[in-house]
Amino acid sequence: MTPGPYLIKNCDSCEQLLRYVTLASRFVFFGAYWTDGYDEIFHVIDNECVGLCPSCGKAIWREHLHELGMADSFTFHTDTRTEFEVRIPTVNISTVLLMKIVREVSKCSFAEAKTIVSRHEIHLNPLFDRDDAYDYARKRLQALNVPYVVIEHIVPVQKDFPEEWLKALPPVRIFTAKKYQEILQESASLLDTEQEKFLRKMIMQRDNDLYRQSDATSEWLLTEETRLNLNKLSAILDETNIDERLLKAEIARNLGHFDASLALLDCDYENYVPIINFLRNHAQNHMPALSLFP
Ligand SMILES: [Zn+2]
Repeated sequence: MTPGPYLIKNCDSCEQLLRYVTLASRFVFFGAYWTDGYDEIFHVIDNECVGLCPSCGKAIWREHLHELGMADSFTFHTDTRTEFEVRIPTVNISTVLLMKIVREVSKCSFAEAKTIVSRHEIHLNPLFDRDDAYDYARKRLQALNVPYVVIEHIVPVQKDFPEEWLKALPPVRIFTAKKYQEILQESASLLDTEQEKFLRKMIMQRDNDLYRQSDATSEWLLTEETRLNLNKLSAILDETNIDERLLKAEIARNLGHFDASLALLDCDYENYVPIINFLRNHAQNHMPALSLFP
């Protein structure tokens, strides 16, 4: 596995130094792909596009922040240590099993495990800075058949860059629809269409998480707030872009507008035939609910 360097940026509100992990490669065990575009693996990357500043709490967009440079791991070849971050997407795992894993691997109390498990995606804490601890966690997760993503952090221990960069902190990640909604409301006038699309898509996916659990028995019911978000997202999606067109068809189906969904799916994109057929079948059978691609 080839690790990537750190990107060093700073917060555009308070100047706090931030460090972003770049992924040169990841290794992954089975990930699932859903009709709303949620992908257990790529979610890890999506989740970093917008975060919160660990110092002032303001929303920070990875692509929009001023970049100071890179702490290239290769420069520090002989003077680095490796930390492993293990993340578990919580979908498809029962809460009981998840609590067990978190308590066992993170060696934390029941109360702490409960707080960790209440979030959407688990970061097993702390970073595994010892190979044996990391190996143990990995073997346990494999034995339990739990999907996980591992990210290798190469932490420079020798300074070959401005000393203050050592103070850079990772951005705070966002796990709830409510938080994305707040960002949308607080900075509405500053956002461009792509940012609004991104936030609304994240809200859609977090709202849908209710139906993603393997033990979910919830009937497909959309709240007024969810419908409003879906309608607003649909209105700004670009039908000439195949990914956005399919998302628009998914939204129409979710809202029960099956004819509109079928009209959008009446398109010809060679590489998307199995996906289009799957969605078309659901719309023809008047099935509005979120679904997992086979
Ligand atoms: Zn800040």
